[in-house]
Amino acid sequence: RAAAAKAAAVLDLFESVCAREEAELGRIDAIAGDGDHGQGMAYGSKGAAAAAKEALEGGAGARTLLVRAGEAWSESAGGTSGALWGAALIAAGGVFDDQAGSEPRTVVDAIDAGIDAVQRLGGATVGDKTMVDAAAPFRETLDTAFTGDNAAAAILEAAGVAREAADATADITATLGRARVLGEKSVGTPDPGAISFSILMKELGQHLS
Ligand code: ADP
Ligand code: MG
Ligand code: MG
Repeated sequence: RAAAAKAAAVLDLFESVCAREEAELGRIDAIAGDGDHGQGMAYGSKGAAAAAKEALEGGAGARTLLVRAGEAWSESAGGTSGALWGAALIAAGGVFDDQAGSEPRTVVDAIDAGIDAVQRLGGATVGDKTMVDAAAPFRETLDTAFTGDNAAAAILEAAGVAREAADATADITATLGRARVLGEKSVGTPDPGAISFSILMKELGQHLS
């Protein structure tokens, strides 16, 4: 159950961070999007944390817990980012095996699988001004920096790269998602989903340190 308890603690952390950042993420999304990114992340992470708590109390393993949390995130959040974060958690759960005696998997494997799912489901590539602009360089840095026993430090290093990449999305015109309608208007403002991703990964790295 160790992995399940750790996953539930991370979702608790995400809930409090998203609540803290809700107003600012909403403000950024309102400039070129529809202004609901803060609310979507707050509702999604709250629903996911509650589902994780219930799963943990029911004795679920990390795989089951993350699948239920991902389903809850999508349902509670609505919106594009909710569907993507939900799919990411479900994919992250997929690296774990709830049967006893299986090889323990690392948080880095789980994050890799989650980002993979976001890229597959959303179909965005770097430069489209989405969370992938932060997640793709994050993943590259993480995979290079991770040597097998330094997950927290590698995540923190990658989160710094993600933050710079998220800030740099201010210079591009959005082509995907709601913001595409008001693409030109988004110049000068970073992508809210890239910002929220980089904040959550920084907090995750600090939490694991
Ligand atoms: P909605 O766009 O439905 O209002 P949110 O405001 O919660 O949902 O989320 C918007 C964020 O979703 C964007 O800032 C962007 O980072 C992310 N996003 C939108 N479309 C995609 C996509 N195809 N792939 C990856 N991320 C995306
Ligand atoms: Mg929105
Ligand atoms: Mg919306």
